[in-house]
Amino acid sequence: MTQPLLQVHNLKKYFPIQGGVFGKKIGDVKAVDGLSFFVNKGETLGIVGESGCGKSTTGRLILRLLEPTEGQVLFNEKDVTNLTKPEMRKLRRDMQIIFQDPYASLNPRHTVEKILEEPLIVHGIGDKKERKRRVREMLEVVGLSSYHAKRYPHQFSGGQRQRIGIAKALMTNPSLIIADEPVSALDVSIQSQVLNLMEDLQEKYGLTYIFIAHDLGVVRHISDRVGVMYLGRIIELTESEKLYNKPLHPYTEALLEAVPIPDPEYKKETAGITGEIPSPSNPPAGCAFHTRCRSCMEICKTTRPEFKEVEDGHYVACHLY
Ligand code: SF4
Repeated sequence: MTQPLLQVHNLKKYFPIQGGVFGKKIGDVKAVDGLSFFVNKGETLGIVGESGCGKSTTGRLILRLLEPTEGQVLFNEKDVTNLTKPEMRKLRRDMQIIFQDPYASLNPRHTVEKILEEPLIVHGIGDKKERKRRVREMLEVVGLSSYHAKRYPHQFSGGQRQRIGIAKALMTNPSLIIADEPVSALDVSIQSQVLNLMEDLQEKYGLTYIFIAHDLGVVRHISDRVGVMYLGRIIELTESEKLYNKPLHPYTEALLEAVPIPDPEYKKETAGITGEIPSPSNPPAGCAFHTRCRSCMEICKTTRPEFKEVEDGHYVACHLY
């Protein structure tokens, strides 16, 4: 059996909380608190959860844009967490990120050509002529035109800007792309165009995606498997269709109830999710979801459920199983 492209073992990121007169550490925000998962080559793993669940931090930890507090990230069996800065810079050619807000991630004072050329310059790829050719090629690949190269980010629509963000991520020919809410800022009609483009590119270049979103509806079609995060942990992980058709964790069930159904006749029988997400600096004891769970039992308040495989390839952390 081939090894997964990416393996994450017990990954943690704690941000210290300073307080008191002397600014001493008085606690931690446990943004990511012990994640373990893998992503196979050519696969799309969706990571979903409410804002503040740690999903974006996870993406940044994998790319080491943030240093983990603990744990291991293996990319092509290489331990990313132990690489030196120059080694990491070299590896970044192979791991890229697409941000939610393309406008914020594209320098407004640079032409598209300069923006797209930059990753090639950073990694010492090609001479000037080759770089220009690659910029034009990538613009066409993402559905723009080569004449767009001389324009500035503000001259494009939101959807076009995200296409530029995707082109930028693809410039160095990476194998893994972490897409952090790549369509959340776009109109619904544009969202599906960008998702279709990402699927086409995946097929064309054999890309592996980690697709981060707060909306289960968005990741459904693009993901092969989906992991649901709650307060820094994955609480359910399985194949996309299984998750949507037969969710096991009460939190996943509630999230799915919150996904709008495009049918005026459809009446929701349940209320979806209620209450606020607790603070990751002071997570509830036992099962972190027990304060909002409609199936909560006594054991849930004191004992944290283990994340275990309850059906073939279907992992869940809940005392009901
Ligand atoms: Fe609900 Fe208990 Fe399962 Fe947590 S462990 S999701 S509180 S039933």
